Amino acid sequence: MKINVIKSVMEASDAVAAENRKRLDAAGVVSINVMSAPGSGKTTLLAKTIPALGAEMSCAVLVGDLQTTRDAERLGGLGAAVTQINTGKGCHLSPTEVARGLDSLQLDELAFLFIENVGNMVCPAAFDLGEHRRAVLLSTPEGDDKVAKYPTLFQSADVILLAKVDLIEVLDYDGQRIRDDLARINTRAPLIEFSAVSGVGFDQWMDWLRDQRPTK
Ligand code: MG
Ligand code: ZN
Repeated sequence: MKINVIKSVMEASDAVAAENRKRLDAAGVVSINVMSAPGSGKTTLLAKTIPALGAEMSCAVLVGDLQTTRDAERLGGLGAAVTQINTGKGCHLSPTEVARGLDSLQLDELAFLFIENVGNMVCPAAFDLGEHRRAVLLSTPEGDDKVAKYPTLFQSADVILLAKVDLIEVLDYDGQRIRDDLARINTRAPLIEFSAVSGVGFDQWMDWLRDQRPTK
């Protein structure tokens, strides 16, 4: 009896991701997949990070959105190469899109590549893009219940930024709930309380980032 096996789409996707990682490794680039819901502050974080890395470590950004080049425009002019990837109806970046993005960059010149994923708390976590690390943002207005509700996103995170902590005082917010939920699903990733407005947590983020730096 002949058994037909349909190879998983994920398998093909993972093969492209592995190829991306090989290219990044060959160039000595550390890539960070930045994920969160829409509006958590991914682009804002990167807009602060690019100048802070400065001449010390060059970086580039692949920024994914369904439509518009708004994020690329926000990040342009800060000293990093920025490539906007429009996914059309796609609700996450695919490794194939990232591969095309890599074609647009001079990888040998980079220390870091940030991949700003499409704002979405669900499927981006399921797709390996060839990144080395995952940075996940959760902003306080989204609520203190999201870690438990969207565990897959937080499970695979290498660092978690609790963003917009400056708003905690006007929200009915229980930060301990975040910590308790994370204690159950991810004790590996540091949790950084961050505010782009007050600047709190930014040094901690930069320290984490520098710790991931390639030795080249
Ligand atoms: Mg954005
Ligand atoms: Zn998706």
